[in-house]
Amino acid sequence: MRRSSEPSGIAMSDIVRELLAALGAEAVLSGGAVEDRHAADWSGLDPARPLAVVKPRSTAEVATALRLCHARGQTVVPQGGLTGLAGGATPRARDIAVALERLRGIEEIDADAATMTVLAGTPLEEAQRAAEAAGFYLALDLGARGSCQVGGNVATNAGGNRVIRYGMAREQVLGLEAVLADGTVLDCRNKMLKNNAGYDLKQLFIGSEGTLGIVTRVVLRLHPRPRGRATAFAAAPGYAAVVALLRRAQGALGGVSAFEALWPDFYRFVTDHPDTKSKPLPDGSPFYLLIEHLGFDPAADAARFEALLAEALAAGEIADAVIAQSDGQAREFWVVREGLAIDTLPGLINFDVSLPIGAIGDFAERCGQALRARWPTAHVFFYGHIGDSNLHISVAATFGPGESIHDVDDIVYGEVRARGGSISAEHGIGRLKRDYLGHCRAPAELALMQALKAALDPRGILNPGKVL
Ligand SMILES: Cc1cc2nc3c(=O)[nH]c(=O)nc-3n(C[C@H](O)[C@H](O)[C@H](O)COP(=O)(O)OP(=O)(O)OC[C@H]3O[C@@H](n4cnc5c(N)ncnc54)[C@H](O)[C@@H]3O)c2cc1C
Repeated sequence: MRRSSEPSGIAMSDIVRELLAALGAEAVLSGGAVEDRHAADWSGLDPARPLAVVKPRSTAEVATALRLCHARGQTVVPQGGLTGLAGGATPRARDIAVALERLRGIEEIDADAATMTVLAGTPLEEAQRAAEAAGFYLALDLGARGSCQVGGNVATNAGGNRVIRYGMAREQVLGLEAVLADGTVLDCRNKMLKNNAGYDLKQLFIGSEGTLGIVTRVVLRLHPRPRGRATAFAAAPGYAAVVALLRRAQGALGGVSAFEALWPDFYRFVTDHPDTKSKPLPDGSPFYLLIEHLGFDPAADAARFEALLAEALAAGEIADAVIAQSDGQAREFWVVREGLAIDTLPGLINFDVSLPIGAIGDFAERCGQALRARWPTAHVFFYGHIGDSNLHISVAATFGPGESIHDVDDIVYGEVRARGGSISAEHGIGRLKRDYLGHCRAPAELALMQALKAALDPRGILNPGKVL
């Protein structure tokens, strides 16, 4: 019998047979029955249909699948909603995908504890709606809410639109259940805000992108449901003014719920695109901002929000601003910020970096200059969750002979490294950014990550080639 971590074709079909015998044909799809969507996530990496897709209906079935795969050294790729942007859920042809989509539903909402327990394959939007129906607020929100799953959000430690106020996915998770590579079920469900009894094991699975275990249940923290929302679009004269306004807004409003910045090339492209219905402010400003405040006293909050913008105008931190007069108009502002129109550009390369907030303006200027010097006709866009120190960069360039996407990586990640930033703010490392992890993590950190991986997954079956 072969003991390699990359088994032969015979061993692979043996494993499919074993999975079929244990879980049944309804839960194990192979060959032509594997749907195309399991071949890739949103990263743009080349698709590959996995050897088989397992769709477990319970934690016990996830455990059975992993136990069998572990025994044979069969590699496994966990798949949530497949909206990941780092290639973490894109399989290779020799992998078995474990798709969590049938592990779906809200198990419990505990109003006393203000928690909800959710199966990992539940779409984020479904969990948000359930929280709202129970009079609470689930503070995790991102553009992919309709497709991404809570388990995927936890596995990537997703960020999104409310991080500045409520934190990332990690801050919403009080407990979870996960299955280890050998099929051991680890029950770390917890509803308490305080629990310091030994190592906080759930943290191993949050943000580890399916390389240390498969998340099957999540206990989420719920917040009081905000009663009102004030949203503005503003134009700022420079990056120093953007930062000054961020600090003013945090003080005046007791915390904003979103503070997003758009550089002018991004703003113009998106608002000139036929798919975008609105242009909140005229072109020509050095920066555009989307500022949002979720509050509990709509009339008083609206007055404070208006006063904030008036003070910022008087201080020269903004040159113009418009406040949304309806939820529909606020939504239009967010459509501009989400900027899906840029996805129409062929060959778009997306980055998701973080830097100390004060360094972002200079970083964007230097990085933009370097990219445009090398590819003068390229589209280079900067935008992002600036209040969270998170900048997105999108580049569409025409490469000359011998050039590739890695030449863009080298420029962007070189600038990030020089300023002590991170190559991933919220999307994760996956396969796409793995080779650059050393740009922002020290050798001793990487060695400890390898040691953790070896301890939890000694045969290296869980999402091989991702993150590390
Ligand atoms: C339009 C759009 C907007 C987006 N906006 C944001 C944003 O604002 N902020 C942000 O952070 N991300 C954003 N993303 C990226 C993506 O939505 C998130 O990374 C999301 O958390 C991925 O969830 P998923 O269920 O789709 O996971 P997948 O893409 O299926 O998987 C992502 C990773 O998690 C692993 N995984 C999935 N489920 C499990 C599980 N149950 N147990 C263990 N591992 C698992 C996979 O192996 C993979 O490594 C956006 C994506 C799109 C397409």
